[in-house]
Amino acid sequence: MDTNRLLHLFEQHYGINQGEVRLFHAPGRVNLIGEHLDYNGGYVLPAALQIGTYLLIRSNADRMLRLASVQFEEAASFSIDELPTVKSDMWTDYPLGVVHEMNKAGHPITQGYDLLVAGNIPNGAGLSSSASLEVVIGYALLTLEGYPIDRTALARLSQRAENQFVGVNSGIMDQFAVSHGKQDHAILLDCDSLQYEHVPFQIQGYKLIIGNTNKRRGLVDSKYNERRTQCDEAVEKLKQVYPDLTYLAHLTSEQFQQAKHVLTDRVVCQRAEHVVFENERVKQSMKALREGDLLAFGQLMNASHESLRDLYEVSCEELDVMVQEARTVNGTIGSRMTGAGFGGCTVSLVAQAAVEDFVNTVGANYERHTGLKPDFYVCDVGDGVIELEWPAFIATDESI
Ligand code: ADP
Ligand code: MG
Repeated sequence: MDTNRLLHLFEQHYGINQGEVRLFHAPGRVNLIGEHLDYNGGYVLPAALQIGTYLLIRSNADRMLRLASVQFEEAASFSIDELPTVKSDMWTDYPLGVVHEMNKAGHPITQGYDLLVAGNIPNGAGLSSSASLEVVIGYALLTLEGYPIDRTALARLSQRAENQFVGVNSGIMDQFAVSHGKQDHAILLDCDSLQYEHVPFQIQGYKLIIGNTNKRRGLVDSKYNERRTQCDEAVEKLKQVYPDLTYLAHLTSEQFQQAKHVLTDRVVCQRAEHVVFENERVKQSMKALREGDLLAFGQLMNASHESLRDLYEVSCEELDVMVQEARTVNGTIGSRMTGAGFGGCTVSLVAQAAVEDFVNTVGANYERHTGLKPDFYVCDVGDGVIELEWPAFIATDESI
């Protein structure tokens, strides 16, 4: 994305004046492994991508908050003394939610701002364009107001904006990854304690390819809630053996094997088995990545997909076909569904030399099997939210 062109657009929209326009960027994210563990008190391993959301921002003297986006036609402006308290179901709900949460946190905006947003994350594909938008707005406003920035607090504030103002009940992982991302690193996050560490993700010679199945996701919410209920039920039953158990992911696989006889419902037992072993796969992944053993990591990605498909049953034909086709490409070392499932994206680790073959072969075969046209994003792992200097340049991931 050409940031000089964005500056030009900003000045066309808001006019030229003496004030300085500042530029910020927040990434999208992908979860590499550790699926459906966030609400089970387990580990996840997301990474920030280089695709993301730019924000150009300048303070104004008239106490107005003005919002515009290159991707969305609706622009809006509000007096900062009379901000709307109910949502409008427009994209502007996300920034307004952030401003409200800043207020509640004792960090109100004290002057007006003109903002222009421009992103290159596909919306609604599960790469967290919404978290990217919230976090870039929060980071920029906190910076311009001179408030101290704690990246974990920023992630939580952004999550509350999405939960409470926008009304989407999402976990903390997305905003956390967007806030804390680090180039060439994944983030090992304990969703229970929010303890985290950066794990080296050195994939020189390889690329992450995110494949969007473009399948419409129906019934996701009810199936998601059903999984949560089944996990709660498993915890309740397992308390017969481990009275202090709060989350499934707190069990080791040995502890689980010794106690699983109390899970007499076969489906509930399968759900629990996925959670316990997936959590162990995240720990094994961390070890493999620390040792630079990408092949071992690729195998763990594959095993994660199998478990999500067979035990947790959140995959679908489209995801399975895409993963299957991905694995037939010489140069793919791991491939799995990523995100909540029932559609959305796959993530594959692929030798750089095989990227073109991957996109052509998987694309053609997937379309032949499913009748849907997929999209592919060839990604590198980038940094979390930052302020950029002019003239700014962020390598943009190829979108094919
Ligand atoms: P995801 O987070 O998976 O991409 P969501 O439905 O949670 O999908 O968030 C997408 C919404 O976030 C968009 O419909 C829009 O309201 C908002 N959004 C994301 N990127 C932008 C952008 N560049 N400009 C304005 N709004 C955006
Ligand atoms: Mg989202």
